[in-house]
Amino acid sequence: MLRQYELVERVKSYDPDADEALINRAYVFSMQAHGSQKRASGDPYFSHPIEVAGILTDLHLDDETIATAILHDTIEDTLATPEQIEKTFGPNVARLVDGVTKLSKIEAQTENERAAENLRKFLLAMSGDIRVLLVKLADRLHNMRTLHHIPSPDKRRRIARETLDIYAPLAERIGMYEFMKEMQELAFRELEPDAYASIVKRLEHLHQGGGNLISRIGSGVRMLLGRNGIQAEVTGREKHPFSIWRKMAERHISFEQLSDVMAFRVIVPDIEQCYRALGVIHQKWPMVPGRFKDYISTPKRNGYRSLHTSVIHSEKMRIEIQIRSKNMHAQAEYGLAAHWAYKQADIAKPDAQISWIRDLIEILEHAGSAEELLEHTR
Ligand code: MN
Repeated sequence: MLRQYELVERVKSYDPDADEALINRAYVFSMQAHGSQKRASGDPYFSHPIEVAGILTDLHLDDETIATAILHDTIEDTLATPEQIEKTFGPNVARLVDGVTKLSKIEAQTENERAAENLRKFLLAMSGDIRVLLVKLADRLHNMRTLHHIPSPDKRRRIARETLDIYAPLAERIGMYEFMKEMQELAFRELEPDAYASIVKRLEHLHQGGGNLISRIGSGVRMLLGRNGIQAEVTGREKHPFSIWRKMAERHISFEQLSDVMAFRVIVPDIEQCYRALGVIHQKWPMVPGRFKDYISTPKRNGYRSLHTSVIHSEKMRIEIQIRSKNMHAQAEYGLAAHWAYKQADIAKPDAQISWIRDLIEILEHAGSAEELLEHTR
């Protein structure tokens, strides 16, 4: 568990003006409020809100959001009252904690319309202040990371299902791909343990055959670009089991038929070099028809920008390549949160609201029922 000073230092490292006293007060308040409560893992309950706050420091979020994360379960699970929170932490933090609490209450409701209802309230709260949504997503991510400690298989499956149906798509919607991917992997492992195990095993088998194939191909790409005067950072990875599984299901093919299990990311200094790198790559390896996408000239609605292509690297192997600039990369990893952190834009102000929030509000207003809403949002 993160210690108090470590958490404060993390926030200070990206925001020297952060209100240290606010974070310290929240830490002590939450620790006292949760007292001897325990998590399913046997850890002190208090470790959970602190880890959630830690996840949000990776996104460089402001002091009020961090304090909210630390306090996010105090109203719901302890004797603390909203009045106390407001008096001790001010109206902003009180409002944010209230927003997260409302979402958590909905989670506790019974099946039926719960998922859609959950989502609706969720979106409503979020459209007021996106920081509520960010805390909620970090909360869910930490709960998924610790899911295996929950003894009831039914409960684990229900949480995993909900994560896959509601929270991962929401993370995607606001461009938080790192959150989305981790949630999907954790949920997939819970819901389809056999498929997960079999894919992991096949990937391991591939490793034995190919030595360190990823780093060999990656440095090949980097050298090729270097020879053409492009300074690029190239990283490679295997696709995650969940995305492999989804591709197999979508295209009705077996693992063996799936030719592109490796993906590479090329990061260059600016936009112009993105297109130059693309040209160099397509000259060297033929592209796979139908797989090229230019999200730089036409960004996704969540603001994501990148060039995507797949090339035939050798007879039996296609590789996927994403090319983007450093700025685009920061935004691609953490989406709106990066935008929030770097520009310090006040998204709570209506005029600064990004179009997708307006889209969501519009959907909310026009959806007839909660079920219908869920359909739209999917
Ligand atoms: Mn929580």
